[in-house]
Amino acid sequence: MAASIHFRAGCEMRQYKWMTSTPPMHARLIDGKAIAQSLKLEVRGAIEALVAAGARRPGLAVVLVGNNPASEVYVRNKRRSCEEVGVVSVAHDLPASATEAELLALLRRLNYEPTIDGILVQLPLPPHISGRAVIEAVDPAKDVDGLHPYNLGRLAQREPLLRACTPYGVIKMLQHIGVAPSGMRAVVVGASSIVGRPMALELLLAGATTTVCHTRTRDLAAEVARAELLVVAAGKPQMVLGAWIRPESVVIDIGIHRTADNKLVGDVEFAAAAARAAWITPVPGGVGPMTIATLLSNTLEASVRRQGLKSAD
Ligand code: NAD
Repeated sequence: MAASIHFRAGCEMRQYKWMTSTPPMHARLIDGKAIAQSLKLEVRGAIEALVAAGARRPGLAVVLVGNNPASEVYVRNKRRSCEEVGVVSVAHDLPASATEAELLALLRRLNYEPTIDGILVQLPLPPHISGRAVIEAVDPAKDVDGLHPYNLGRLAQREPLLRACTPYGVIKMLQHIGVAPSGMRAVVVGASSIVGRPMALELLLAGATTTVCHTRTRDLAAEVARAELLVVAAGKPQMVLGAWIRPESVVIDIGIHRTADNKLVGDVEFAAAAARAAWITPVPGGVGPMTIATLLSNTLEASVRRQGLKSAD
């Protein structure tokens, strides 16, 4: 009798521990930092080879309006990464009071500037400036963010030129870990013009059977549970619960948020999702570094095209 009580107490103790501690990690981590580093090394090698052959170094104009602290960090990282790979970055910092007309005038000048191959306008913009007008003002040949309607249209028509950085970064990440989306049941949570929609177009291009979820999706949990490949860009901290994740799926978390206790988290409940998935991206160190690496590779590509050189790949 005593033994059986002891045994039951042991079981309860184990069950209690299971309920209160982090579930065991099952998934393999997708190390975006390392993958981005190898992509940056490739870009650097290609740039050095082009420069050695007499080409001009690629030039990127990085435009920042105002002083949103997160944007300042992103822009600083982008400029530092340019230096790492040998892209010439030219800073254009405008005050928050800059008008839309002033920004558009700057973009017109940069469109005609021969040594500038790429123009990046850091988003979000202050509310008095139309993001749409700004995105459309960039010459599509210099649109290294891949957000101009011409470039998104090319992607929609399966003839991509400059591809949206974050979604293209996700595709490169999947290639790196040997996951081919072709034929997979893919679900994208989020339908914004800069992340969710181009992500869905990339997955469609890669041959996945692609579902896009948004705020009007009736049963998000059921859609997520069907996903063999799940990409989340909903902009809501830890909104996708681990219990929804299909066992052995691939989970890509694009979201990034700072919590009240100063931690970075994504849109997915990480620990519980990692206990079920086969592969998962961490936040930070997942998709974020890939976005910058893809920006650099887009800048190289734009430069190669503009200089009439042979493709660097
Ligand atoms: P957004 O707010 O413009 O769009 C969010 C999308 O998610 C919308 O389409 C909305 O319909 C959908 N959505 C929101 N709540 C939902 C819900 N409950 N159910 C289903 N769908 C829902 O955001 P965004 O610009 O697309 O960015 C998304 C996230 O990705 C943000 O956290 C952003 O910080 C992050 N982000 C990260 C990178 C990176 O490099 N890591 C780059 C860009 C954006």
